[in-house]
Amino acid sequence: MKILLHSPLPRFANEFCDVLKLFWPVEDFAVEATAPLTAEDAAKAQYTATPATADMEVLYHTFSEVNGLWRCGFTLRGQTAERAQETPDAGALTRKRLMKRLCKLTLYDLCKQLTGKQPPWGSLTGIRPTRLFYEKLAGGMSPEDAARALTAEFDVTEEKADLLRRIVAVQQTLPAPAANEADVYVSIPFCRTRCAYCSFPGEALGKGGQVEPYLAALFAEMEAAARLMREAGFSLRALYIGGGTPTALSEEAFAALLEHVAVCFPSPLEFTVEAGRPDTITREKLRAMRRYSVGRVSVNPQTMNDFTLRAVGRDHTSAQTLEAFHLARAECFTDINMDVIAGLPGETPADFAHTLARIDELRPDSLTVHTLAIKRSSRLHLEGAALPPGDAVADMVRMGEEAALQLGLTPYYLYRQKYMAGQQQNVGYARPGAACLYNVDIMEETASILACGAGAISKRVFTERSLRIERAPNVSDVGEYIRRAAEMAGRKAALFS
Ligand code: SF4
Repeated sequence: MKILLHSPLPRFANEFCDVLKLFWPVEDFAVEATAPLTAEDAAKAQYTATPATADMEVLYHTFSEVNGLWRCGFTLRGQTAERAQETPDAGALTRKRLMKRLCKLTLYDLCKQLTGKQPPWGSLTGIRPTRLFYEKLAGGMSPEDAARALTAEFDVTEEKADLLRRIVAVQQTLPAPAANEADVYVSIPFCRTRCAYCSFPGEALGKGGQVEPYLAALFAEMEAAARLMREAGFSLRALYIGGGTPTALSEEAFAALLEHVAVCFPSPLEFTVEAGRPDTITREKLRAMRRYSVGRVSVNPQTMNDFTLRAVGRDHTSAQTLEAFHLARAECFTDINMDVIAGLPGETPADFAHTLARIDELRPDSLTVHTLAIKRSSRLHLEGAALPPGDAVADMVRMGEEAALQLGLTPYYLYRQKYMAGQQQNVGYARPGAACLYNVDIMEETASILACGAGAISKRVFTERSLRIERAPNVSDVGEYIRRAAEMAGRKAALFS
């Protein structure tokens, strides 16, 4: 679909485009600012406006505020949807948010009217649908009423609204972050090779020439972050080493990393290493993790089908996944996560069922069921790959949930992404006591995070009067990071002082 949007509120154009994408692939999207029109004007104008190209359709938007009432309308292909609501008595930011919400809902009505489709998450386009659920609870609703309200207001399917209800119920049993607690994230932006769907800001390890200078820069930044935490009076909550693939480092470099992390950030409430790629996990690295009290590790198969692993360039086998998992258990890891992806290129629901059956035999402590998203920086995007059919992906996501429940795991965190197959979601499931605090903190944005390393983003959560979040991103390029690590430490200091 190619769309020319005429709107009196062009500042919301990106959000309107997100709503259109719930219903159609949008190849081209142009915006023209207009004076406020009435819906009637818009319907007439549709036949006279000149779009940029012959195959471009014109979408008209009208918005007015008269006598304490907002009126919004959208017109496309001769059909119009309208909504109205009382102008809220609120501050500028809330007014803007509610105005945008009214417009998005009106456009959603029109798209649904034209296509007859109901997307699984209704009109929601954000990555954190739990936010709205918490908003409803804060307004005094029971969890059941909050789920019903999301269905009524945003057309979220009952299945997804109930998933949110169950997730929030688990999150409410976890220790909430105190105002003076912060998480620490350490980024290792290297991997052995690069998977076709990967978009992490880093690089293939190659001969490893960058590792030494990178770790030197990273250690200096970690030391500065540890000083900053002490001076600003923050105590450590969750500690997470991610990437890339941290275990892609050599055994010596990996042990040196853990030693430094342990010195800088002692006694975390939870310590995770996203080992990830099974072909990078060795007995020595597992023993080093035990030595430095890592409690939670990931051994990520993504799929247990070797033909898919080859097709996406993961460069390991399902046998290596089994081996790495058993090795981790033999080294006494009692909290092992596994990640799978629904909708990998060429996979059918039967292939996904095979993956889930193998995982069922391993009985991990937590399982994250991702849905394939084709991100802009991935090879799949560059190759112009298409997302798999939505129905098949929906089936796989359901199978993932059933497999998790079968293992005694319950859903505890969720997020969505853009360009996601079947407009589904990523969900983390865990056995009681194995929900990862860091995952919840980062997705719900409830805890401050001091993040070190290339591509890492520090975040400070202010809760004094109202919730406010400020961020300090590190540069993503490894070479650039090595040169500018001191500047990154300075950015964090400015954020946390
Ligand atoms: S293993 Fe993970 S980090 Fe490495 S290339 Fe694949 S998706 Fe990216």
